[in-house]
Amino acid sequence: MSSHRPSPIAPTVDFDRDGVQHGFLRLPYSRDDSAWGSVMIPICVIRNSKGPAALLTGGNHGDEYEGPLALYELARTLDPSQVSGTVIIVPAMNYPAFRAGTRTSPIDKGNMNRSFPGRPDGTVTQKIADYFQRELLPRADIVFDFHSGGRTLDFVPFCAAHTLPDKAQEQKAFAAVAAFSAPFSMRMTEIDAIGMYDTAAEEMGKVFVTTELGGGGTSRAETVRIARRGILNVLRHAGVVAGAVETGKTQWLDMPSGDCFCFAEDDGMIETMVDLGEPVEEGAVLARIHSTGRTGVAPREIRAKMSGMLAARHFPGLVKAGDCAAVVAVKVD
Ligand SMILES: [Zn+2]
Repeated sequence: MSSHRPSPIAPTVDFDRDGVQHGFLRLPYSRDDSAWGSVMIPICVIRNSKGPAALLTGGNHGDEYEGPLALYELARTLDPSQVSGTVIIVPAMNYPAFRAGTRTSPIDKGNMNRSFPGRPDGTVTQKIADYFQRELLPRADIVFDFHSGGRTLDFVPFCAAHTLPDKAQEQKAFAAVAAFSAPFSMRMTEIDAIGMYDTAAEEMGKVFVTTELGGGGTSRAETVRIARRGILNVLRHAGVVAGAVETGKTQWLDMPSGDCFCFAEDDGMIETMVDLGEPVEEGAVLARIHSTGRTGVAPREIRAKMSGMLAARHFPGLVKAGDCAAVVAVKVD
């Protein structure tokens, strides 16, 4: 069984040592420009005696920036005297993708969030996933994974957890989402949960929390502020960092079914008819796709399959058949 092989990744940090350590997960990767070279994935461990452990990640997708911006700063500034337990920070989980500014890895085209449980003898992306699956996730009590929309999507800023069969586990995750205090809090449904880091953590019984904080392949001042305040709130809520949670107003959202998602069925130029956060009625035109090969062609309309609020939209001006064009969510109390 390949999963019984040891991971090729060698950490330069000791997870059981007190204090602050800035190091690497070193993954051997022999290639044209570096015969005995490695991928050096930055990692920070901040530990102060026994206690709960939080595993914090950004850059699961390499073109999403609120997580890395919050986590590189947290690694630089978190005072270990304020910590009870362990904070493990990997600000750029798919480091090759992060360096390239792309969603997937330029080495193997691996999408980290479709690569779990990974393989110790697989591609670079699969080896990183395997290390998280077998070495890092088991150490964690709470797992927080930052996402944003990347180059192709844009979201209203929300913190999220999934509805789960284990209601005690689900309740703990939603309590952490509430502590994050983003403008929106989501009960999230996935299009395809197979291979996700989320699923790997949840199947291990971990409290798993994630975000979607904007997108477009960049960040905004507001979304970075939300990320930085939110992650400290979650660590305080979990009892890993001292201090009170700074609660703020949040609007809970639900994605009750697959009708949330609207996919383009045509290539062309997309015209957004509703902005993020605006209310939509079932049947309303969310976007129009204009054919650009000739003049005189009527645009194709993308209509909402349910009433709610526009929570996400396709970001670039050009769209392809199959692209996620819009996501509608429902406001709940
Ligand atoms: Zn992502």
